[in-house]
Amino acid sequence: MDNCIFCKIAKREIPSNEIYEDEDILAFNDINPAAPIHFLLIPKMHIDSLTDAQDIHQSLLGKMLLLAPQLAKKQGCENGFRTIINTGPAGGQEIFHLHFHIIGGRDRLPGMI
Ligand code: ADP
Repeated sequence: MDNCIFCKIAKREIPSNEIYEDEDILAFNDINPAAPIHFLLIPKMHIDSLTDAQDIHQSLLGKMLLLAPQLAKKQGCENGFRTIINTGPAGGQEIFHLHFHIIGGRDRLPGMI
């Protein structure tokens, strides 16, 4: 997607503070962190949102979910972390390239539901 900021980050056209990369996935620190540890996990391929994910993305999404706790631990989340996937305008999604927020680094995070 030409005008997608996360596609540009994935293609290194825009810099980010990367913490992980493989052929399918990139993780980088959120530019406006909500907690001491806050990074984003994105698929390199463009998927607008979770609503737009299809059967062909099943293994990619599974890979992202399994990677989340590994990266969270490496980043210093000792006692757990939150995983947030804002989906669509009513879900608070502002950037329409699927991303998982991984948030931690506090004993108890605010806004628990
Ligand atoms: P929200 O802003 O409501 O959390 P999203 O779920 O779409 O909406 O999250 C987009 C996230 O991307 C925000 O946390 C924002 O700080 C982050 N972000 C925006 N631009 C960049 C960037 N260039 N590098 C890293 N993070 C970014």
